[in-house]
Amino acid sequence: MSVVRDVVRWFRRWRRGRARHSGIPYWLMVQGYLVLVPFALLFVITAAVCGARNAYDVMLQIASPGEVGYQWLTVPLSMGGWLIVPGFAGALAGIVVVEVTSNRRGRQADRPGGRARSGEIPRLNWLQYYRHDHDIPDYFALRFAQRHGSDWKLAQDHWEILIERFLTIEAFDRRLGARVVMAQAVSAVAYFLHGLSGKCPECAKVARPNE
Ligand SMILES: [Zn+2]
Ligand SMILES: [Zn+2]
Repeated sequence: MSVVRDVVRWFRRWRRGRARHSGIPYWLMVQGYLVLVPFALLFVITAAVCGARNAYDVMLQIASPGEVGYQWLTVPLSMGGWLIVPGFAGALAGIVVVEVTSNRRGRQADRPGGRARSGEIPRLNWLQYYRHDHDIPDYFALRFAQRHGSDWKLAQDHWEILIERFLTIEAFDRRLGARVVMAQAVSAVAYFLHGLSGKCPECAKVARPNE
């Protein structure tokens, strides 16, 4: 069960760090699924009614809706395929290139002793106990965890919320790339929290929920 919890936490961290991306990759992660999920559903229904081969051919304009029949399904699928598939394939290729090149370094950063910087929201315990090249105040992560009664999971949760809010509010120059944007957000939030006395802003919000 702890594997499931780890995956849920990883997904949450990924979701909160999305705003470091820009352009089509960002759109796909935030809104693109609103287009892609109905389209995928239409494909599945057409495949069930007309056969997977026919649905595939209609989607890619290899066969016309007239040849296959069931035009109430195949005409929308053909039009959707014409509109969505080329852009989606291009965007997917772009995401793969970006994620592979940044993950090759990111994976090193995820390992103890890794030096490179991942574009994801860094975990507080990495920042405290492993080598990294983020510009943050000394003992920042340890002190932030101590503000949460050394509950590192709660501290990590609040750290991610604060990073996400900063990413979506601040006007970064995202042409610098997702990893640079994340590095700037990490430094800015860490120094901001370091300069605050007393409670973490998220804890204060939980304590006074009507603000
Ligand atoms: Zn780092
Ligand atoms: Zn907190």
